[in-house]
Amino acid sequence: MSCLFCKIIEGTIPSTPVYQDELVYAFADINPKAPVHLLVVPREHLGSLDDASADKRELLGHLLWAAAEIARQKNLGKGYRVVVNTGEDGGQTVDHLHAHLLGGRALSWPPG
Ligand code: AMP
Ligand code: ZN
Repeated sequence: MSCLFCKIIEGTIPSTPVYQDELVYAFADINPKAPVHLLVVPREHLGSLDDASADKRELLGHLLWAAAEIARQKNLGKGYRVVVNTGEDGGQTVDHLHAHLLGGRALSWPPG
């Protein structure tokens, strides 16, 4: 298994966990772009959002719910952003589906 995030989920590569359940694992981004910058990833390996077939709809919903739950736990009531970079033009650099949870400062729009 050569996937970085699969190794993080299985514990071969260390991470700072912030939330986990039977479907997802969330940990601190190693290169934070905001005071709160976390990654929420499905335990199951999916290459990207584009690889999520219809039978993954419940998992995708859970991923979003988990991001919102973590935001509540982190007291991000003033607002936050959930981002899923997808593919080359989308800026995806790790080929295991993940949602960025960014918050703790005002975020500009549109992103670059
Ligand atoms: P993306 O560019 O959307 O694919 O996001 C990948 C994210 O993974 C980037 O924000 C990186 O900073 C982050 N990242 C890469 N390696 C690690 C690591 N070992 N632990 C935590 N985050 C990482
Ligand atoms: Zn993976």
